[in-house]
Amino acid sequence: MAEGAHVVIIGGGAIGTSIAYHLARAGCADVVLLEQGTVGAATTSKAAGGIRAQFGTETEIWFSLRSIEFFSRFREEMGADCGYRQVGYLYLLTSLELVEEHRRRVALQNRLGVPSRLIPPEDVVEIVPEVRVDDVLAAAWCPTDGYASPHEVVQAYVAQARRRGVRVLEGVRVTGLEVADGRVRAVLTNQGRFEASHVVNAAGPWAGEVGAMAGLHIPIMPRRRHIFVTDSFPWIKHPTPLVADLGSGFYFRSDQDRVLMSPGDEGVVPDYEAAVDWSILPELVEKAVRRVPVFERAAIKTAWAGLRPLTPDGRAIVGRAPGFENFWLAVGFCGHGFQHSPAAGLVMAELILKGTAPVDLTVLSPERFRSQPPPAWELAPD
Ligand SMILES: Cc1cc2nc3c(=O)[nH]c(=O)nc-3n(C[C@H](O)[C@H](O)[C@H](O)COP(=O)(O)OP(=O)(O)OC[C@H]3O[C@@H](n4cnc5c(N)ncnc54)[C@H](O)[C@@H]3O)c2cc1C
Repeated sequence: MAEGAHVVIIGGGAIGTSIAYHLARAGCADVVLLEQGTVGAATTSKAAGGIRAQFGTETEIWFSLRSIEFFSRFREEMGADCGYRQVGYLYLLTSLELVEEHRRRVALQNRLGVPSRLIPPEDVVEIVPEVRVDDVLAAAWCPTDGYASPHEVVQAYVAQARRRGVRVLEGVRVTGLEVADGRVRAVLTNQGRFEASHVVNAAGPWAGEVGAMAGLHIPIMPRRRHIFVTDSFPWIKHPTPLVADLGSGFYFRSDQDRVLMSPGDEGVVPDYEAAVDWSILPELVEKAVRRVPVFERAAIKTAWAGLRPLTPDGRAIVGRAPGFENFWLAVGFCGHGFQHSPAAGLVMAELILKGTAPVDLTVLSPERFRSQPPPAWELAPD
């Protein structure tokens, strides 16, 4: 016998669990979330937790501002602490192209109320004295950017969604979609069939596979990225902001008295393989020591890797699936799906329940890959 719900969500990462929570908060608790493994254990658990408003489009900045509001009132709304800290994001710009692009972005961000600014290299060393700036032309600095704990955020989405009646089912793998007349009629799983009025694809790196079950091509490219964490590192003043060297992709930030760092890699891997590949360590060390010479003294304590669900233009895909009435996409959040999850949940709940979004979604529209070649990749390394 089939089970049923008003909304079935496929995928229990930051995006799927936020949609479940926001639907329930808006009064729709007849929701089933299907997660093949454990909620929050896939890409979301690998995120560095970074939260920034330094984006390049009005829509994405709107997502950031709504999400930052949510993280700021997290304890009050969610009854838990997500470790939200506003330590700032500092983008080091080493070419004229990067400076010009960030000048444009900062102007847009300022117009929308984000307190970002371009600063000269002398000011960079005021903020992080250990950074080498002899090749830095300028930096984009936003003191209200920061980070939080993806684990705490997802656990709170799930707890609050369940409290309102949402069914969150773990160990349930979606294996097929029953499609007829432009509608997904049912979701087929290893534990039976679920009928739904609305079906949401929030399957992160696997979203292309789930789309294919309905005959859709969704351009999601799972790409592996590593994070390394040092042992206690007293040779730098903590807490540092998140510092990203946009020329090389390298970034780091404090993790209490340790340093979390990434080479900014985008590895092509077979079969969703996300194990750590230690052969990338020399690349990390080279980039790290070139930018912050004192990192020569660092000892790496631990490392992990995860699959970022990239898209051809570096932007998420949000909205109704082309050709469908009741199949929704909240996928391809690249390197910013954790931080944009609050706004993504809010937007998806409104789309499903009211049929309209609170923001213009044109730049994130699923239709954009049908009509035009993708624009250039985003510059931000996430
Ligand atoms: C190293 C690294 C650093 C990052 N740093 C940041 C950062 O600082 N800030 C930030 O905002 N983002 C960051 N990200 C990106 C962020 O992690 C992702 O954008 C975000 O987690 C995507 O969330 P999601 O819910 O779409 O995907 P996921 O968390 O992967 O969730 C998708 C879920 O769908 C489930 N699923 C898939 N197929 C099926 C199926 N057939 N049936 C049932 N369930 C299914 C999966 O098991 C999974 O749990 C980083 C990512 C990496 C790898």
